Amino acid sequence: MSRVDTMMAPETTQANAGELSPEVLYDKCMVLARNLWWAWHPEVVNLFRDLDPIRWRQLDHNPIALLHEFTPERLAARASEMVLYSRINYAVRRLKEYMSTQPPWGATNTGILGGRPVAYFSAEFGLHESLPIYSGGLGVLSGDHIKSASGLGIPLVAIGLFYGQGYFRQHLDEDDYQREEYQDTKVENTPLEPALGKDGKPITIQIDTRSGQIFAKVWHVHVGRVSLYLLDSNVEGNKPEDRELTSRLYGGDERTRIRQELLLGVGGVKALRALGINPGVYHLNEGHSAFGSLEVIREYMHDDGMSFDDALREVAQKSVFTTHTPVPAGHDRFDGSLVEEHLGPLRDQLGISYEQLMGLGRVEPQNENESFCMTVVGLKLTRRANAVSALHGHVSRRMWAHLWPWRVEEEIPIGHITNGVHIPSWLAWQMNQLYDRHFPADWMDKMGEAKAWENIYTVDPGELWETHNALKNLMLQFVRRRVSRQCRRRGESEEAVETARNLLDPGALTIGFARRFATYKRASLLLYDIDRLFDLLNDKDRPIQIVFAGKAHPKDEPGKQFIQRIAQTRRDHRFNNRLVYVEDYDINVCRHLIHGVDVWLNNPRRPLEASGTSGQKVVLNGGLNMSVLDGWWAEAYNGKNGFAIGDGRTHVSDEVMDRRDAESLYSVLEEQVVPMFYDRDDDGLPHKWIDFMMNSIATLAWRFSAHRMVMDYTRACYVPAAGGLSCDMDVQ
Ligand SMILES: *Cc1c(COP(=O)(O)O)cnc(C)c1O
Repeated sequence: MSRVDTMMAPETTQANAGELSPEVLYDKCMVLARNLWWAWHPEVVNLFRDLDPIRWRQLDHNPIALLHEFTPERLAARASEMVLYSRINYAVRRLKEYMSTQPPWGATNTGILGGRPVAYFSAEFGLHESLPIYSGGLGVLSGDHIKSASGLGIPLVAIGLFYGQGYFRQHLDEDDYQREEYQDTKVENTPLEPALGKDGKPITIQIDTRSGQIFAKVWHVHVGRVSLYLLDSNVEGNKPEDRELTSRLYGGDERTRIRQELLLGVGGVKALRALGINPGVYHLNEGHSAFGSLEVIREYMHDDGMSFDDALREVAQKSVFTTHTPVPAGHDRFDGSLVEEHLGPLRDQLGISYEQLMGLGRVEPQNENESFCMTVVGLKLTRRANAVSALHGHVSRRMWAHLWPWRVEEEIPIGHITNGVHIPSWLAWQMNQLYDRHFPADWMDKMGEAKAWENIYTVDPGELWETHNALKNLMLQFVRRRVSRQCRRRGESEEAVETARNLLDPGALTIGFARRFATYKRASLLLYDIDRLFDLLNDKDRPIQIVFAGKAHPKDEPGKQFIQRIAQTRRDHRFNNRLVYVEDYDINVCRHLIHGVDVWLNNPRRPLEASGTSGQKVVLNGGLNMSVLDGWWAEAYNGKNGFAIGDGRTHVSDEVMDRRDAESLYSVLEEQVVPMFYDRDDDGLPHKWIDFMMNSIATLAWRFSAHRMVMDYTRACYVPAAGGLSCDMDVQ
């Protein structure tokens, strides 16, 4: 905040704004660029873009990289040319106001934390495409969580890792096979600054293992009012292989993985201590950070002279654990030897035996054949645990019932808080304008409440439809730009590039499918019956077109084959280019697609989609969901706000399920989606469709917002954990 204060002086008014010195102007832009607050304020995003629209795009929308290409003088010249002075001043003033006010919701509801923040741990944070430290849904959820915590005024600090090469950039080769490219992120082009300890010096933390020490430095990122701390092992003193420990997200082998998780959990707790931060609550978002609880127990034993058992109880009382995956392979497990190598010295300090330590990570503590599971240790060391949708709650209680063998399934202490998305980050500017015109002026302060959204029914159907179509056009332009670039990169003919420049028909029903290509998500289900798909796409009067995007994990061969199959189908001339694949799915690609699709398709193998969030982003912008009744959609769908694939039943045989769901997918398209979309009145409006759009916005936008989610976490988890009350989370 002090940075903003110093930059604001002397106060300037719009009248004399033109007289700012180039240096002051440049500093003001840097102040804006160095707090990710800018990323969810479209007027600030537009301001950076207007400085140089082409470079803005080429630089992944990175304002710091962009500003580094300007001298203060050139920036000042550009600002006069574009009349940007008052917009820059206004944006800086708004940031300053934002940073110096305490939002009423947090002020009223988090008093019990008494100034001790929630420490939120996550292995990935998806905040913006220019800070590539996320791979997919989990990361974007963490990013949205801390943005909403900032907006609501929840005292919260976040802890993660800085991956110097991020996840990977994807492109398809001549055979449409996924290739991964790793690029070093230039730290000077990110908003990272060294985190300083109480003595004002940059912090380095150190972890002892049986095989030597690991060191890490700590970066500080401002995300609105929230501080995000990222550990980075690329420091002098580390062995060469340890310097690369945090270079890639989900890269390397088991040993890399346990060392990353050691850094995140134990290192994260040490970093907080070095920063002088004393958290009131620990929130472990997924099991990756669960070793951290052991370090907190050590602190309690050391500082307060508690026994291991008492400290464990105390720490569990203050801790919240969120599990995210119903896929068994998705839960990290480590061999005893890896655990002993990395946790051995800490175990000595805790005064517990190897068997006791291993027992904490096993369902049956004495079972020597069981490896150490991060989810199990997470569940054992926290008193409050939750899944991320109602259905996922049921699945998780069943999955972990054997941890509480004396309880019936309904009493397994895992509740649920359904995921949501940060509305300002995912709402298109044009829709935002429409809501501003029709909703009460303070609607954004209440976006996590149902009432704000009922106003959608007062909007003129034509206006909503026009706005959606404007967004759809922008999305199609984006797709054309990306696909023609892909063609050029692959060295395809000039004719192919030209075709790509004119791809897709703005009048045709447009379906989007984009997400990680994990096999359970069944990206190729739509291709189950190629002839039937062919008829749907090529209907003369009522055509469909489909945009695909998504990455497969580098080691996921079946996932890569899904991509290849889809990308090759695209080349089949019978399809008339109605099926396209956009490479290098990331937050930017996601944002463009969810702004403009008519229908967002999701067809996971039920019940393996814990929640899913991309469909929630679509809701805000007027797109309709068509999804298997899994994850969030199982509780969102009401028959009038989108489309359901299947009837919510499951089957033990994957083949049977795939056949059934594909059958349902085609019939829903043929009998419901296509007729409704193309049923127009004299003005060309699809009335029933627009009714569905309004129902979707009215019933879903607030419920599946990150504001509602963070309010739920605060009331059901953070406040009770801080105050010692019992959990009132919805366990049903
Ligand atoms: C929102 C988002 C996701 C999550 O999508 P799901 O459909 O929930 O899997 C994944 N990746 C990116 C880049 C996103 O923005």
